[in-house]
Amino acid sequence: MSVPRTSSRPTDPDPDLDFDPDALRAKYRAERDRRIRSDGNAQYQGTGGEFGYYADDPYADPEFTREPLHDRVEALIVGGGFGGLLAAARLRQAGVESIRVIDKGGDFGGTWYWNRYPGIHCDIESYVYLPLLEEVGYIPKWRYAPGEEIRQHARAIARHFDLYDEACFQTQATELRWNDAEAEWAVSTDRGDRMRARYVIVATGTLSQAKLPGIPGIETFQGHTFHTSRWDYSYTGGDANGGLHKLAGKRVALIGTGATAIQVVPHLGRDAKHLYLFQRTPSSVDVRDNRPTDPDWARSLKPGWQRHRMENFLKVVTGIRTDEDLVDDSWTSSARLQEKLVPTNAYRDVPAEERERAYELADFQKMNQIRARVDAVVQDPATAEKLKPWYRYMCKRPTFSDEYLQTFNRPNVTLVDTADTHGVERITENAVVVGDRAYEVDCVIFATGFEAGISGILSGRLPVYGRRGVHLFEAWSQGPKTLHGFYTHGFPNLFQLGPTQSAAAVNFVHVLDEQATHVAEVVAQARERRARYVEPCPEAQNAWLATLRKNAPDLYKFRAECTPGYYNNEGMPPERNEAYADGPVAFHELLRRWREDGGVEEVLVEAERA
Ligand code: NDP
Repeated sequence: MSVPRTSSRPTDPDPDLDFDPDALRAKYRAERDRRIRSDGNAQYQGTGGEFGYYADDPYADPEFTREPLHDRVEALIVGGGFGGLLAAARLRQAGVESIRVIDKGGDFGGTWYWNRYPGIHCDIESYVYLPLLEEVGYIPKWRYAPGEEIRQHARAIARHFDLYDEACFQTQATELRWNDAEAEWAVSTDRGDRMRARYVIVATGTLSQAKLPGIPGIETFQGHTFHTSRWDYSYTGGDANGGLHKLAGKRVALIGTGATAIQVVPHLGRDAKHLYLFQRTPSSVDVRDNRPTDPDWARSLKPGWQRHRMENFLKVVTGIRTDEDLVDDSWTSSARLQEKLVPTNAYRDVPAEERERAYELADFQKMNQIRARVDAVVQDPATAEKLKPWYRYMCKRPTFSDEYLQTFNRPNVTLVDTADTHGVERITENAVVVGDRAYEVDCVIFATGFEAGISGILSGRLPVYGRRGVHLFEAWSQGPKTLHGFYTHGFPNLFQLGPTQSAAAVNFVHVLDEQATHVAEVVAQARERRARYVEPCPEAQNAWLATLRKNAPDLYKFRAECTPGYYNNEGMPPERNEAYADGPVAFHELLRRWREDGGVEEVLVEAERA
């Protein structure tokens, strides 16, 4: 459908618009209503129990064993992705010698360890996404780096900061228990360890537990099946660069059309005998424009360049006026629309109504461009129509590709729209069923994403017992209570990295670096002052909560009207928003000032006087 332009009306005060906002609003609402499900998040199931094999590690040695450890380290970090690596690096720089990282995977890398599907890249510019480039002495080879290069960089960070010797891989933390007499944490794991640590930092990520749709019959499928975060190259052949030669005679079903599928589809389309792509909601697919790093540009970089570039990117994408846009890509050009995901005070000087109207019009214009791109690339008009996203830009994770839409011009690729049936209806022993048609396939690949925002201590899978054996969830029975998102009264010397009661951004690795730097500085001062505990008082937590609530922008209406997905809790967004309202740039500044103004004093308990 294309929305026709109509004559100007009172609700459409701009006569120069070449579209009708009312018609678009109505179309968006209708498309959302087609997809909303009453079972919300309950439509999904985890990759545990009988589906445990979906989460098996295809890369690590399944026979690996080691003796349980009962030793003591100064800092123990749960999670070896960029959050854990940054925490370890910043602690090392602060002088901490005894650091252990533990991770369920067989190496460092986190999301880049698990996700190795064909086509994997990061769609945030590599020069701002890959952390610690100057420290490690590395310049990425591409503007948008392939996953393997990012994974190797994670390993290089671990080598550079000497983290391998103490690291424990293929090890899952199963309990954190505070021992007040010794002022240390007991960390239990699934390998029988009972390690002791003065400080524990939990950096377990936000999208780390793969999820499956609860499609009836999913367990009856007799062909091959796996999740994109555990790509089975022994079945497909090839590697992350493609060349999936073993699929030449196979009919493949891919379920899901999020940021992962966008990168996978061109390879499956090229290599499978036939690809059936099962779509419920189309992604917005904007220009990618990847290119190799210009060696002259790389040579011209002056010390401090990466921090400058990261900060510039963060400012631009959070709407802060700056003279230059160093990254200058599809993220920065759509900056204004991102406030709907990450709050910022950048445009608060404009009256709310005027601001809202301007946003909405800019959003319609952006999405019209995205839809026009579909028409320009996809030859079959019926397929093109199905591929058009009808929602506001930040309702769903934007994606970027110069190959995805082109794949639908191949004769061996079929797009199966499942919006009217709220997704794939059924899976049988040899087929995927939608409406009255069963699509017989040899293989079903799930590109169905991850449990959002919950891992580690937030998921309950890593129980935490603080003073007097109190469970963290008991202390948080009315919702999380923290100072700055990092620590909680009653749980001394425990820090968490992540978005809780903090400020997120699309370049989340930058956010993690600021958090890691802050935690390392607090730990450094605790060591220097011989503080027994790092722990906020309840009043400081209450004050932080009050700060978060005082200015919280009301994003409920926007999110509730969005097409369902993990950004809005499947169409049921929380009414309260507890992110720092002034956005990440202001949050980082607040942390810096807090440190400079002696704020650390507030959280050092039983410290020696300076
Ligand atoms: P998503 O959660 O974004 O996508 C899951 C897909 O599965 C959706 O298209 C969803 O449809 C579909 N789906 C779920 N259930 C069904 C069903 N029953 N029938 C049919 N379809 C179904 O997961 P991704 O792995 O794609 O991405 C997760 C996140 O990982 C991204 O949002 C991004 O943050 C990150 N990522 C980042 C990349 C980068 O370059 N930086 C690259 C890849 C991922 P519907 O939308 O209708 O729910």
